[in-house]
Amino acid sequence: MSTNTRYQKNQKLIVDIESLGVNGEGIAKIEGYPFFIKDALPGEKAEITVTKPGKNYAFAHLDKIITPSKDRVEPLCPSAKICGGCQLQHLDYKAQLEFKAEKVRQNLIRIGGFDEKDLASVEEPIMGMEDPWHYRNKEQYPVGVDKEGKVIAGFYAQRSHRIIPNLKCRLGHKKNSVILQTVLAHMEEYNVPSYDETTGRGLIRHIMTRCGKKTGEWVVMLVINAETEKAIPGLSELSEKLMSIDGVVSFCVSPNTSRGNVINGESFITVAGKNHITDRIGEVEYQISPLSFYQVNPDQTERLYAKALEYADLTGSEVVWDLYCGIGTISLFLAKAAGRVRGVEIIPQAIENAKENARINGLFNTEFFVGKAEEVLPAYVRTHNEKADVIVVDPPRKGCDSVLLDTMIKMVPERIVYVSCDSATLARDLKILHEGGYELARYCACDMFPETAHVECVVLLTKAHK
Ligand code: SAH
Repeated sequence: MSTNTRYQKNQKLIVDIESLGVNGEGIAKIEGYPFFIKDALPGEKAEITVTKPGKNYAFAHLDKIITPSKDRVEPLCPSAKICGGCQLQHLDYKAQLEFKAEKVRQNLIRIGGFDEKDLASVEEPIMGMEDPWHYRNKEQYPVGVDKEGKVIAGFYAQRSHRIIPNLKCRLGHKKNSVILQTVLAHMEEYNVPSYDETTGRGLIRHIMTRCGKKTGEWVVMLVINAETEKAIPGLSELSEKLMSIDGVVSFCVSPNTSRGNVINGESFITVAGKNHITDRIGEVEYQISPLSFYQVNPDQTERLYAKALEYADLTGSEVVWDLYCGIGTISLFLAKAAGRVRGVEIIPQAIENAKENARINGLFNTEFFVGKAEEVLPAYVRTHNEKADVIVVDPPRKGCDSVLLDTMIKMVPERIVYVSCDSATLARDLKILHEGGYELARYCACDMFPETAHVECVVLLTKAHK
């Protein structure tokens, strides 16, 4: 960033906050030049200190709120300001929902090229939560030591790898603190070293917990800097302690000896209990292995999938593709109402889960393929002369590969249902699909991640009949 001549580092200013940026930070402008200020809200007058002046914009620290916003609330979590997990705890929940609906709208207009008026006629109200706390079914806590050398677990501070100790995250389940305390106490008792990123030494890297909210089943997985679980001192005692916690049905270890930022290893070892937990969404039962993707907010997932099913508008005869299918969550949800469902997913263990899940639910009109969606689908189309009626995609944040979008357009399905966790890449992909002959027929945002700046969306595209 080259330095702007108008503003200096450490310069103090008084500004009016005008809007919220995509990451939930307040934005103030002086003569069109924007300042990004974490924790500031629109409508507020505030004292700020410039921390990083740049050519086109600056970052600044919020020193003092002179006039607070009517939407400002006291964060529930004492670590809210320093923890990187939540960005919007200081904003009233209703206003959070408005912010998210507007963020999606703006991305569809600016990146997707859609007309504001057209959007208004296809937008459905954002689906919010009644109780926007303790909604997560999964946590991944980094483990380290504090200045006194005591083992700690918690969350990373924003944009850093400094661990903020926190065993009571307000987004997670209350049982997490019991599990964490058990692991940390064991580490103290047996002198089990935590992993040190800077040296690459030590053992325990992360503690992962996941529960099936409907079944009450829990898995605890330790990510370790060793090839085998035998490296953990007092393993059988730890295993006994964890398995005696109410609900814990699985204790696993994932070896990860790499130096990078990737949290989990590529495989896992089951130390005690089952190699998966079970959960239900609607009528469908799912087995979930610890490395497979599973939506983190099960209450909202049920509403999201119900909306995807509504958009898919199935009568029982359709051929449906579910791309980026994970453990087959959406595939099986749709399979009850479709003729045939084919899922594609890159992670082999997730596809194993998907096949098993199809079997336990008796949904035999499904087929699952391991591989990249952008490779599997074109290859299938080349060798099979078959039409798809509905294509569902649910890609990770980076959105769909362009080869995949082209293939989808060439397959001319009646409907495309796009589930997205990043409305910017969604808008980019919708533009391509729109140019390829699809109309944006309806869309709905869903608040899967209250208190954070993230938002999920589901979109229905229909083939334009000219
Ligand atoms: N539809 C599922 C999973 C969505 S998350 C659900 O709702 O639970 C996105 C999934 O895409 C992850 O499981 C990830 O492993 C998978 N994935 C990422 N890149 C992929 C690619 N190129 N092709 C197929 N799957 C991919």
